[in-house]
Amino acid sequence: MNSLWHGFADMGVVERDGAFVVARGEGAYIYDTADNRYLDATAGLWFTNVGHGRAEIADAVAAQLRRVAHYSNFGDFTEPATQELAERLSALAPVPGSKIFFTSGGSDSIDTAAKLARRYWHELGRPDKTIVVGRQKAYHGMHVAGTALAGIPGNRENYGELMADARTIEWDDPKSLLALIEEIGAERIAAFFCEPIIGAGGIYLPPDGYLAEVRRICREHDILFVADEVVTGFGRIGGSWFASSRFDLRPDLMTTAKGLTSGYVPMGAVFIAPHIAEPFFAGGVWWRHGYTYGGHAGAAAAALANLDIVERENLLDESARLEATLHEKLAPLAEHPRVAEVRSGLGAVAAVQLADSAEGLPMVKTLRAHGVSSRAAGQGAMQISPSFVMTDAQVDEMVEGFTRALG
Ligand code: PMP
Repeated sequence: MNSLWHGFADMGVVERDGAFVVARGEGAYIYDTADNRYLDATAGLWFTNVGHGRAEIADAVAAQLRRVAHYSNFGDFTEPATQELAERLSALAPVPGSKIFFTSGGSDSIDTAAKLARRYWHELGRPDKTIVVGRQKAYHGMHVAGTALAGIPGNRENYGELMADARTIEWDDPKSLLALIEEIGAERIAAFFCEPIIGAGGIYLPPDGYLAEVRRICREHDILFVADEVVTGFGRIGGSWFASSRFDLRPDLMTTAKGLTSGYVPMGAVFIAPHIAEPFFAGGVWWRHGYTYGGHAGAAAAALANLDIVERENLLDESARLEATLHEKLAPLAEHPRVAEVRSGLGAVAAVQLADSAEGLPMVKTLRAHGVSSRAAGQGAMQISPSFVMTDAQVDEMVEGFTRALG
């Protein structure tokens, strides 16, 4: 039965201990194959924003697959659902009039943004602007460009050089961006990639004023600002569709995936501000880039149904509610001797940081024994990023599970 090679795993351990098999899901709960119930603290890998088991999305996908599953998004080909989704996303975009380039997921979106940034400067006659900059602790997916420009050493090591012209700066100090500009010159730098909240690298909220300041520096030095909203997009930041809207960042490029379809079907999208798209839309540039499943019609149908649910059920407000509830109800866990700190207060995102980072993986299993499914991000940061349908009573239940597991 062990033909499956899991991602981000020591397969020796999975072979020894067995897999945790999720058989079904309903709202904020998942069930294993023995039908034991777990509160889903993470919404899968931060994506099931509308909760599990939405027949409405399944039906929309099935209807689309019966019409046509997918054809192509290259050249002049496309499909009605894909066109409709692009119009809808452009209307939600933090920068009005943004163009939408569809991908198969977050890593594709990052790769697309990294190539597009370089190509943009080439088209503007500045081909030396090729360096892409990321931050320590940052996670930008697992394609080569994203791995190289992210800031988690363990993910980058032992492959040789992944990509030339990728640099990493401190995650929390705008002065470190200025220092890099001083060192290598803005005329060499294509783009700065920035997760509004550091996600997989351990869930770290931006210091006050950080986002506005790095945005300002990029604008001043002609460096494209890429907001990586794969985690934060589509309502994860309470009360707004994107962190970029809440913080008025007006990104040149914005990478998304996950919450676009709530993970029901894989899909990503890059939002491209009009001034960046302009040289490509003016005629004469044939951008040789695209993915077979970019703009997949079945995925587009899932995204449209997902956005319908978010709007109809006011889930951006529910995410804002969770921002406050998580902040209030998780705070007492910080007093526990095995907890170093609780990070919360921005969006439906939080981390219970264990004092001993080596306890992260064992804690995943202990939490399961107490009816909670979470995961360890960064160094022993227990991830909390529930679906927006998790009720306050379910948050209580989750906190109780954490308390018992820590005890
Ligand atoms: N960027 C960020 C901020 C992410 O959190 C992730 C995935 N966790 C990615 C990019 C990559 O997305 P995917 O796994 O869909 O390729």
